[in-house]
Amino acid sequence: MPAPARLGLTGGIGSGKSTVAGLLAGLGALVVDTDAISRGLSAAGGAAIPALRETFGDAFIDVTGALDRASMRELAFRDPGAKRRLEQLLHPLIGQETVRQAALAAEGQMIVFDVPLLVESGRWRALVDAILVVDCSPAAQVERVVRRSGLPPAEVERIIAQQASREQRLAAADAVIHNDGLSIAQLGTEVEALWAGWHGG
Ligand code: ADP
Repeated sequence: MPAPARLGLTGGIGSGKSTVAGLLAGLGALVVDTDAISRGLSAAGGAAIPALRETFGDAFIDVTGALDRASMRELAFRDPGAKRRLEQLLHPLIGQETVRQAALAAEGQMIVFDVPLLVESGRWRALVDAILVVDCSPAAQVERVVRRSGLPPAEVERIIAQQASREQRLAAADAVIHNDGLSIAQLGTEVEALWAGWHGG
């Protein structure tokens, strides 16, 4: 496969997707992190805050003026309509900022769109030239996320169950990095090998 100009990068929570994004950035790619964009929009002073307050009420905005993520996550889990309204509100804003950041790429620089729910959202397939999936076992996902965030394992399992399955993600992949039983250094070697393959090395 030649180097994709626009690469979609995805993986389940804790798969190591952000780590791979960082490694690709180190090799010269421009990474557009849609999760960071989404967080920025709903942080204090973020562009989505007025609409979030209007739609969900003051109870979902904390004292700092940021979205109260825990309350919103709870609401979205138990109320599909609220989840839909949240997505309808955020998606156009995320889209605009994604386009703005991608336009900053230099001539010939690979753009990596880091999209946690790329497979779930469906609309990304047409926007990228190839999809790279970071794959690992659910057990490794739980272990990493518990270690990173301190969330209880049952909560992590609940998040995993809401995401696409490992099989669904692999079915959408043009390239796969299996991040199981590897050290971070070995993961780096895998990413370098993929990069070298794309660039004829
Ligand atoms: P994601 O973005 O998919 O949620 P991250 O890249 O943030 O995942 O990785 C989750 C956690 O696991 C991070 O703390 C990261 O440093 C760690 N991690 C990822 N891959 C490995 C690995 N191969 N060996 C050890 N730790 C890893």
